[in-house]
Amino acid sequence: MKLPSYLEQVIERLSRLPGIGPRSAERLAYYCIRMPKQDVLDLSSAIATLATKARLCEQCFNISEDERCSICEDSTRNPRYVMVVEDPLDVIALEKAGSFTGVYFVLGGVIDPIRGIHEEELHIADLMNRLNTLSRSDEPIEVILATNPSTEGETTALYVKQKITDHPGITNVKITRIARGLPTGADVEYADPLTLKRALEGRGVY
Ligand SMILES: [Zn+2]
Repeated sequence: MKLPSYLEQVIERLSRLPGIGPRSAERLAYYCIRMPKQDVLDLSSAIATLATKARLCEQCFNISEDERCSICEDSTRNPRYVMVVEDPLDVIALEKAGSFTGVYFVLGGVIDPIRGIHEEELHIADLMNRLNTLSRSDEPIEVILATNPSTEGETTALYVKQKITDHPGITNVKITRIARGLPTGADVEYADPLTLKRALEGRGVY
């Protein structure tokens, strides 16, 4: 049976999204047909608004509504305490944890030569400019490297660290890396040796 073209179009568009295969796309499209018409119109208008309004913060490259995101604009946060993350979803996760009082800097990915992602594709030069500007004041800066503990995340963290260290205009900066270790609910007995090694290295006073 040939599907109506409007339905085929929705299925085709949905199946381009990450994590949605052709079967799920079909199911979602049929679900939309059964939904109240207004709900479907609201969904499509919300997506259209997102497409026209979504932008990146000019200072930290987090998702923003205005030129600067709400975190950069928040005067209660310490701008000299900069957490470097891979993407905006990391900011959301870290904000949910609720204990960080500094600001973020979103790199926009990690260095991954196999996938053709090199340092120029990331916001590393912008990070150097930002730290350079912060260095004009004598107060200390802390950069927390919070890229994922994957091979690419580690490579990127090392690269950023080296860039900061080599930059003549960036001074009085302490570079730290988020601790890696056992996730909540994990069993020491079943943890892999690398995780245990890192958990031990990242231990704190109790
Ligand atoms: Zn921002």
